[in-house]
Amino acid sequence: MSVLLLAEVNQGRLATDAVAKTLSALSPLGEVHVLVASGDSEAAAQEASRLQGVSRVLMAQDVSLAHGLAEPLAALIVSLAPAYSHIAAPATAFSKNILPRVASLLDVMVLSDVTHVHDAETFDRPVYAGNAIQTVVSADPIKIFTVRTSSFSAVGEGGSAPIERTDAVADPELSFWVEDVSVVSERPDLTSARVVVSGGRGVGSKEKFDMIIDLADRMGAAVGASRAAVDLGYAPNDWQVGQTGKVVAPELYLAVGISGAIQHLAGMKDSKVIVAINKDEDAPVFRVADYALVGDLFSIVPELTKKLEKQ
Ligand code: FAD
Repeated sequence: MSVLLLAEVNQGRLATDAVAKTLSALSPLGEVHVLVASGDSEAAAQEASRLQGVSRVLMAQDVSLAHGLAEPLAALIVSLAPAYSHIAAPATAFSKNILPRVASLLDVMVLSDVTHVHDAETFDRPVYAGNAIQTVVSADPIKIFTVRTSSFSAVGEGGSAPIERTDAVADPELSFWVEDVSVVSERPDLTSARVVVSGGRGVGSKEKFDMIIDLADRMGAAVGASRAAVDLGYAPNDWQVGQTGKVVAPELYLAVGISGAIQHLAGMKDSKVIVAINKDEDAPVFRVADYALVGDLFSIVPELTKKLEKQ
């Protein structure tokens, strides 16, 4: 059995953390080939070749692949598909745009957000906002799935897989790139940060949310938010954690003024250590918290920030 792993490339760099975690999920299935396809793939292909568990890197480089458009990438993957028993990718916005198209072109189903690989046909995935785990047995001739990276640890470096060039196929020209608008931040990326500090409705306003940002910066953490905080304009949309936001599993998750609705828990309950600050001792977030700080966030957060300043 051979597995094709679709890697994301951003501005010539491999999304290494996501690829390294997906490799952990895929390695038990057999030989893993990583497909690095973009407008400028050389450096990313080198990065992929160094990851443990990679048998081969397929490098495609073409202007049609430069901006992650689903149609040319799907056409390329479909052309490679006959050689593979499985095609997978980290569950990110990038792959969620491409793999369903690939599955449809191959007339098979796509399994999203796989959290455990039992064997070549059997996979676990969360359903009902993470409240139940579904075990799926796929009879499809080729299995296509996305991997929830927060459920797997990253493989290390030290490999030296060969890099093979592969040609892009004709661009179906169904969509055209206009521009990329991306947020530039010096903070760690929310989905791969070791520490995340999130604020909820309890924080009270956009101005007061600065308190959460200060604390996060002290801790070298990424900033997250509940949907209520996002809807109220306290925090930008891409900071939302939860069922309809990002799924995170950092070493430490600090939930401030967040009640712990199931839709929020769906995005953070796999964090290694959860600390919650809430004035309501019956808040549901305390059911998943390892450390509960019952009290007013407006006194606890500044105190915490001050103590960290002294260190
Ligand atoms: P609240 O539930 O209002 O909680 C605020 C908390 O702050 C309370 O527990 C309160 O005790 C505490 N508090 C108030 N003042 C203080 C203070 N001074 N000191 C300490 N504590 C204080 N939500 C998400 O977060 N992410 C999602 O992805 C998401 N997806 C959803 C999808 C669907 C289909 C639906 C229906 C809902 C979704 N939600 C999601 C919304 C979710 O149901 C909750 O409404 C939301 O998570 C609540 O946010 P919150 O905890 O910030 O607000």
